[in-house]
Amino acid sequence: MRPLPPGSTLGIVGGGQLGRMLAQRARTYGYRVVVLTGGERQTPAGVLADREVHGRFDDPDAIAEFIGDVDVVTWEFENVDVAVGRAAEAAGIPVRPSSDVVFLAQDRVREKEALTTAGVPVAGWRSATSRAELEQAVSELGLPVIVKTARFGYDGKGQVRIDELEQIAEAWQTVGSSLVVVEEVVAFEREISVVVSRGVNGQLVDHGVMENTHVNHILDTTVVPAGVPPAIAADAGRLARQIAEGLDVVGVMCVEMFVTAGGLFVNEIAPRPHNSGHCTIEAASSSQFDQQLRAVCGLPLGDGTCRPAAMAQLLGDLWADGALDWPAALANPMISLHLYGKSEARPGRKMGHLTCVADDPGQALEQVLDARAALIGR
Ligand code: AMP
Repeated sequence: MRPLPPGSTLGIVGGGQLGRMLAQRARTYGYRVVVLTGGERQTPAGVLADREVHGRFDDPDAIAEFIGDVDVVTWEFENVDVAVGRAAEAAGIPVRPSSDVVFLAQDRVREKEALTTAGVPVAGWRSATSRAELEQAVSELGLPVIVKTARFGYDGKGQVRIDELEQIAEAWQTVGSSLVVVEEVVAFEREISVVVSRGVNGQLVDHGVMENTHVNHILDTTVVPAGVPPAIAADAGRLARQIAEGLDVVGVMCVEMFVTAGGLFVNEIAPRPHNSGHCTIEAASSSQFDQQLRAVCGLPLGDGTCRPAAMAQLLGDLWADGALDWPAALANPMISLHLYGKSEARPGRKMGHLTCVADDPGQALEQVLDARAALIGR
């Protein structure tokens, strides 16, 4: 439980943008950073690390190389083989959050079971392993439903909505794998999230409630604070803290929720920083990445309170018509730019984001959307 002081080596599992932004903070605090990429080279996180280990997440040599060079392990991505975390734990190296937490969060069925057992409100759901079980689930839940693969689904991948009984066969063909979750479609008023951090001693700090909009199941914008009544905001914070405590998370956890007329439903949890927390970089003294570093290294957490802010995601689609007008986007001095260092701009790929801090969240959103439109001359 001794704190790992600056100068120690932080090991990050995953080479994506969340690892990159963590690596940036870790370097600022004076930590050494080693990234395990899972196979790729010159990853968004790896190019900013002291060392990039390229092996696969289940490759014993890569695992040995990685854990032989780090003092603590954390994750920037949960859809990975947890073998590396298990090996580090066996070697006495702290893994924060633990491999058990990541193992749970990488499977929608395990996650829903844990949340349901803990009494956390979730939409009605069933699991299914065959078309017949899917039909049974639909008959129990009623239509419409959303079917999601239990594993390796993100950003709406591996999801299909069923509105009519005739669509069941096709839905099973599209997402049918060994295991799916079948969920009632929630008629939500808003989507919100809470990014909560928990230290080794149980200290809990959040950044308030984020309000999110999705386009094609991918997060498009976030504003903070969310436009929800204080009682809903308090409920959301309480649920996020309850889940982080219940799972004994050390690190950062994002809890995504639906706001409905009947209260909150938890949609999903992620045992790491989250897109919807990106605006904390400019809006809070301690961003979600500061908190992740502090939590996993056993340091006290910082102040996560956010000033009003908004974030707009920059997807690869923006690059479709050629060069982007960066000076136009940055003409407003309150706009901050984050690019993740990805060379190829594919549709739907997260390339970066813009943030604006303003006097109120509505103004921040307007400015950040204007800046994004200016990128493509609109
Ligand atoms: P997920 O991958 O579970 O985070 O889902 C991505 C997005 O799909 C969510 O943010 C919602 O916009 C939508 N969605 C997912 N599950 C449901 C549901 N049960 N009811 C309504 N919308 C949903």
